[in-house]
Amino acid sequence: MVQQTQQAWDEECDVLVFGSGGGGMSAALFAARAGLQVMVCEKRQYLGGTTATSGGGIWVPGTPGGLAAGDTIERAREYLRWELGDHYRADIIDAFLAQGPGIIETLNTQTDVKFELSSWPDYHSDEPGGAKKGRTLFPAPFDGKRLGRDFAMLQPPMHRIMVLGGLMLGPDEVPDFLRPLSSVRAFRRVLRKLARYAFDWLRFGRGTDLRSGNAMIASMMYSMPRDRVSLRTQHALVELLKENGRVVGAVVQGSAGARRIRARRAVVLATGGFPHEREMLRTYGPNFPHSQSLGCEANVGEGIKSALAVGAAMDTDLNSVANWTPASVMRDKHGRETPVIYGYLDRGRPGVIAVDAKGRRFVNESSSYHDIVSAMFKHSGNVGAFHFVCDLAFVRRHGLGAVRPWPWTRSLASFVRSGYLTMAPSLPELARAIGADEATLTETVQRHNAHCKTGVDVDFGRGATAYNRMFGHATGQPNPNLAPIGAPPYVALRIHAASLGTTIGLKTTADAQVVGVDRQPIDGLYACGNDLAAAFRGRYPGGGTTLGPAVVFGALAAQHIAKSPRPVD
Ligand SMILES: Cc1cc2nc3c(=O)[nH]c(=O)nc-3n(C[C@H](O)[C@H](O)[C@H](O)COP(=O)(O)OP(=O)(O)OC[C@H]3O[C@@H](n4cnc5c(N)ncnc54)[C@H](O)[C@@H]3O)c2cc1C
Repeated sequence: MVQQTQQAWDEECDVLVFGSGGGGMSAALFAARAGLQVMVCEKRQYLGGTTATSGGGIWVPGTPGGLAAGDTIERAREYLRWELGDHYRADIIDAFLAQGPGIIETLNTQTDVKFELSSWPDYHSDEPGGAKKGRTLFPAPFDGKRLGRDFAMLQPPMHRIMVLGGLMLGPDEVPDFLRPLSSVRAFRRVLRKLARYAFDWLRFGRGTDLRSGNAMIASMMYSMPRDRVSLRTQHALVELLKENGRVVGAVVQGSAGARRIRARRAVVLATGGFPHEREMLRTYGPNFPHSQSLGCEANVGEGIKSALAVGAAMDTDLNSVANWTPASVMRDKHGRETPVIYGYLDRGRPGVIAVDAKGRRFVNESSSYHDIVSAMFKHSGNVGAFHFVCDLAFVRRHGLGAVRPWPWTRSLASFVRSGYLTMAPSLPELARAIGADEATLTETVQRHNAHCKTGVDVDFGRGATAYNRMFGHATGQPNPNLAPIGAPPYVALRIHAASLGTTIGLKTTADAQVVGVDRQPIDGLYACGNDLAAAFRGRYPGGGTTLGPAVVFGALAAQHIAKSPRPVD
């Protein structure tokens, strides 16, 4: 039901933003920079949502670094045309490509939000318009101490995927931690990092050397003009208020009860889509059965539902309902399940293969996380899960799921006891233990090992693209992505489809203004992040596929609000 607004307002602002992930914070920051009074209402105790626990990568072509690396906007457009096919929406992509670089440049030069160009290739870099470098950027490290008391409001990183439960490492630091004894310099750097972490832990209860998505949200918080932005945690959107066809505010549930907050210029929905709302997942993604998500648990479609209640339209014609990653699942002693992302350390590395329920390979294991799960959904033997299979030497070297490489994990015994890993002295025994066919699994491993010798994966082309090769290394074999599965014991890890966030969402204009079922933009209502339908339509062109558009369309929403005529009181 849409409430009428005869009652008095409890509070007022120009722009009322719901959700404090990359989308909401970008909208808030750009709106405040345009001189508007902003209130950010976040349902949880912490700011940052999924974004704060993410890699923080943004895919934005055309930045100065990207152009210097040889990229052009036209090539990026060609790539997106190939990638999105019939789902390509020219108005959205034109806005993204035209405005994205300027928005990132504004952040980099006029705020403390800094993005650095990475060496990541596009995920399909060999396809038309694909780039081997220049489109994925990562947040620069940020010292959490600069936030002062606000540091306590920042979402801590995901314990499960961090060294020592919370130590954040940049990609440049990973090699030191993998081989701390490889040189005196590596050893010193590791010690220095551990010492700072220990000191921070005693003083703040967590590390302050922030990286990835945590650095992104912290730097956005730091860059907010605080005289114009009020950041509220434990304030949840309950209902939008509409008057004479215009969204004029919302009912917000805070610790002091429900309050009516007026938004003089606009409401921005950035509540992170619906990765944890089963009913919506069934409705919008019946062909993508899955039970796991690494998205923030508070993201249950409240922004989208509130918009639908005031006449908004959904945009459902996408390739997929979500962006995907393979994930293993840990169970604690109470039976609670926690998904563990297919991590950077073991992802696509030589010596591990993915097998279906029978024991057959079905995918190029070095392709992107999104592509692996998409292949699983398309595979005829799909039963919603598959296994990674490798030998013990692989696990020691790269880790596997929640298992860290040696020396960070010394024994696999507790992982095997809890059922997280399956270990067996021979391939037929491993096959029996995971429910696969003994002969098929043995044959699959033999065939894979034969490919290692020739260097050509004739079945799935592993090692053929620049993105594949990012996860390869010298193996003594002709193909850096292929190494044989060697001596026993053998190890298997059960893998499930998990969403990183949903892609189907509200229909909007290219300025991120929500469109109604009557196909007209709804005055005063905008959406960004995963509340709006993904610009890339459920496809995954490269690292930063969701956060690139989240930051850009958050900024575009703010700019459109700032230049729209002020409504008459
Ligand atoms: C481990 C991991 C790594 C990832 N790495 C990357 C990466 O490198 N690059 C990339 O592009 N994507 C990455 N992703 C995906 C990406 O993080 C998400 O798609 C993105 O953060 C979504 O941003 P958002 O602003 O829409 O939502 P979120 O960041 O989830 O923020 C939404 C916020 O809204 C709040 N909220 C929910 N309901 C309400 C309500 N009713 N009222 C008020 N607030 C509410 C939530 O509490 C939450 O804080 C990763 C995801 C994971 C899990």
